[in-house]
Amino acid sequence: MTNREQALARFAVDGWGAGYYSIDEQGFATVAPQPGSKATVRIPDVVEELRRRGFRSPFLLRFPQILKDRVGRLNTAFNDAIREFNYPAHFQGVYPVKVNQQRVVVEALVEESGNHRYGLEAGSKAELVLALTQAVHEDALIICNGYKDRDYIELALRGAQAGSKIILICETIHEVHDVLAISQELGIKPAIGMRVRLNSRGSGKWIESGGAHAKFGLSSSEILAGLRLLEQAGCPEVLRVIHFHIGSQISDILSVKEAVKEATRLYCHIKRRSPGLDYLDMGGGLGIDYDGSNTATDWSRNYTLEEYCRDCVYNVLSVCEQEEVTPPIIVTESGRAVTAFGALTVVSPLKVIGRVEARTVELGPDPCHQVVELRSALGDINRKNWREIVNDGKSLNEEVLVGFKLGYITLEDRAAGEALFAEICAKALDVMDAKEEYAEEVAELHGHVAPMVVCNFSVFQSTPDTWAVRQVFPIMPLSRLCEEKMTLATVGDITCDSDGRIDDFLGETGTCSKTIPLPSLTIDDPFLIGIFLVGAYQDTLGDYHNLMGAANEAAVWIDGPGEFRIVNQYRGSTVSEAMNPFGYERQMLVSRFDDRHGGDDSADTLRYRDCFLRVLSSGTYLRR
Ligand SMILES: *Cc1c(COP(=O)(O)O)cnc(C)c1O
Repeated sequence: MTNREQALARFAVDGWGAGYYSIDEQGFATVAPQPGSKATVRIPDVVEELRRRGFRSPFLLRFPQILKDRVGRLNTAFNDAIREFNYPAHFQGVYPVKVNQQRVVVEALVEESGNHRYGLEAGSKAELVLALTQAVHEDALIICNGYKDRDYIELALRGAQAGSKIILICETIHEVHDVLAISQELGIKPAIGMRVRLNSRGSGKWIESGGAHAKFGLSSSEILAGLRLLEQAGCPEVLRVIHFHIGSQISDILSVKEAVKEATRLYCHIKRRSPGLDYLDMGGGLGIDYDGSNTATDWSRNYTLEEYCRDCVYNVLSVCEQEEVTPPIIVTESGRAVTAFGALTVVSPLKVIGRVEARTVELGPDPCHQVVELRSALGDINRKNWREIVNDGKSLNEEVLVGFKLGYITLEDRAAGEALFAEICAKALDVMDAKEEYAEEVAELHGHVAPMVVCNFSVFQSTPDTWAVRQVFPIMPLSRLCEEKMTLATVGDITCDSDGRIDDFLGETGTCSKTIPLPSLTIDDPFLIGIFLVGAYQDTLGDYHNLMGAANEAAVWIDGPGEFRIVNQYRGSTVSEAMNPFGYERQMLVSRFDDRHGGDDSADTLRYRDCFLRVLSSGTYLRR
């Protein structure tokens, strides 16, 4: 294996990189706008250009070309499947804007609307306003999901009257009633869809989104009641779409197949009573291989994009053939699969919080017996007895901690106990053979031993799902990737919250790991760390915890091998901007300062005021 091959394997890049992200011969992380493209750029070169422009880490780098490529790939995969099975209708997707509402993202995707009749999906009034102001193709759909009030319904109806292809998806039986009543009152004929509640469930982290107790959707008796309402109103033909969504990041292809079969069966039964029906909308859920394992784990999936599309087309077709019903136009609302690859967060390591070496710990004149036993256990550990010694060490260290709390163990003994136990863990990792056999214990030992690399960012702002749902994102250094010797570490952020850390990483063999390999921080060649595939959900779920505010941002366009342009740049929040949403306007902060200190024009107070103003205008993250 070359050093490069070793690095690719170590970080499972061929799994999650999908051809967009890779490592070059010199150990730099690279990005390409299309898989296999010669137009490849070293990511540290992009960061260097931003630094030249006065920007500092953390950065959010966006690659609009990758977003466009994803839309192309989704459509190609569906079109290929449609050709393969001679499917008699077409595919058209919609982009669910909740996945990332940023204008640069939405507009890059909408530029593809003309090529693919690509539409938008909204889940609230604000998202509908967003969708109505985008230049989508005339045949593209605007799908309205989410619970709706009168304003939401009226805006959608008036937009439809003005010519947009807006579909009001009824999430409940009450919404069928409301939409019919409001459309009659306004004299506007609606185009509606029904979200159906499937018995089939998704799989993976969001399995609870589906099934009989899901938050949204009509049960079979409600579907029948809805059809009766439409018939009583004399307009069964306004029902155009059957919609389902069984959750995000579906990990197992079997659950896709089952849901598609059940939904198509419903479609066929409903179509017999509602001949205007012609779209089957399969929602989102198309998964991403975040951990590079290509398996049905929570942060991966056991299928490819192409397999997903073939399974959708094939199963719709075979049920329709059995039912002798004309197959529908297929719609999907894939969000994660379209946007995840489009963004990358870059952070810089600031310091290492490491393990204290036992030999440096001062021992008191008369150490407690637990410390004496820990010390001799450390001397005794070998290839055969390491598990026993680690377990003994764990309980001895526990006794020391309890004893300290109760007041009969000294601070010196406590420090010695902690250091000796950590050293026992490190030595166990050294002496054992066949690490795979003990994967779980090995992960726990690394957890006791690994230093934490503190980086200049906030988990809550930049990668909220690592905290909220323990999501695994691919993380790796952006340079020095081919170095032989790496140290296993965890990653911490600079918020004051002890949850502000990442300790779920992808493992070398596709399993999850508690640590990540990093080059030595002490060598005089600082490296940056990339947190990849953060384009879905992270942007707008991110919050202001600790008033950290937005990171610096840049959209990058890649022109050729090593050639790129920064097409958009935004400076992250200043201190006063981060405070603004919470009722602290800059003007008010300055006048409060002056009310307190205005009478005093001593040199010290003037310097204090200068410093106060300088901090208000500076970035929220640490300056280095
Ligand atoms: C969130 C959501 C989506 C997007 O799901 P992904 O897993 O990101 O593809 C699509 N449709 C509906 C109704 C949703 O709520």
